[in-house]
Amino acid sequence: MWFVNETTPVTNVIFKVFTFVKKSLAKLKLNLYFCRRNFTMEIINLENLAANYQNQKETALFGKWIHYKHISPILSKLSDNLEVSVIGESEQNTPIHSVRFGTGPKRILLWTQMHGNESTGTKAIFDFFNCIAHSNDAIYKRILKECTVLCVPMLNPDGSFNYTRVNANNVDLNRDAVVKKAKESRLLRRVLDEFNPLFCFNLHDQRTIFGVEETLNPATISFLAPSEEKTRMLTKGRKETMNVIIAMNSLLQKVIPNHIGRYTDEFYPTATGDNFQKLGYNTILIEAGHYPDDYDREETRKFNFYAIVQGIYHIATTNDFTNYESYFEIPNNQKNFFDIIENGNKGYLYVDKIIDGKFTTEKKLEKEGDLSDFIGHSVNL
Ligand SMILES: [Zn+2]
Repeated sequence: MWFVNETTPVTNVIFKVFTFVKKSLAKLKLNLYFCRRNFTMEIINLENLAANYQNQKETALFGKWIHYKHISPILSKLSDNLEVSVIGESEQNTPIHSVRFGTGPKRILLWTQMHGNESTGTKAIFDFFNCIAHSNDAIYKRILKECTVLCVPMLNPDGSFNYTRVNANNVDLNRDAVVKKAKESRLLRRVLDEFNPLFCFNLHDQRTIFGVEETLNPATISFLAPSEEKTRMLTKGRKETMNVIIAMNSLLQKVIPNHIGRYTDEFYPTATGDNFQKLGYNTILIEAGHYPDDYDREETRKFNFYAIVQGIYHIATTNDFTNYESYFEIPNNQKNFFDIIENGNKGYLYVDKIIDGKFTTEKKLEKEGDLSDFIGHSVNL
């Protein structure tokens, strides 16, 4: 990662090296702390999980533009092994599906692509479906025995087709949990009420601008246990949500150490996670982010898959969700990256768009001036 700072003055680099060493020692202490704290958690063997991913990855899905035409044939195929249903439709009448499996008492609800242009969770969830349908690994047998899982793999198919955050009527579904103006928001709320889950997983993507505080790394995966009101009180439900996040973080720290961030828990009164948590449904936010040179989000997809499997496996294998304190040891997300820093004073971000039916990426100048506090995913001198 040092190349990213080539354009900064020498004294600045020395200061950053010193800070980095200091923080690395702190992280080492932190990792030992996590190891001590998590002795009751069953963390999945990484070799197993990597092999599962390799064998079961859904190869029909690739890249960032994932829409209904991509998932529709895969859902048909999956219906031989899993319970696939049409549960409603979007504002533009595209079917919205659910995939259900397991017979256990712990009910888990997941949804992906409520923001249409955030597809990493969808790819990861189809990899997980293949494991459930085809793997003989004990991990998935245990999940099927202990849990009943319901997943809505593309809540916003219109936004997914148009590659927009919003739905066809320009509604941000993640700011529509109270008014429920969108058909898709009403559908998700109906699924929540009827299914009555113990835990929810709300799967999103975050932009490349996010880094992990006190490191030089991008935030490849970030988590949040959302607040229920503006004082951010640590309710029993939030603590349980944090407990599941600790299990996911423990696994990921072994794979991508210090690339995991914690989102701000500022209360968003109209956001889905905040409102579901307030209603008593523990809701885990996972934000898939950037990994070096991975603009297709294919490496991050794997880490997202790891997090989902570990999170659900943890729910399957424990009844004690009280340990939450080390959640706060996960470093904060911060906005400190540009895609490109040019001449040390121009920060660019890539903007993805669909033009004439093709996925295109343009670079856009975002900030000009002193960028010494920023890092470039790439640097042009
Ligand atoms: Zn999102």
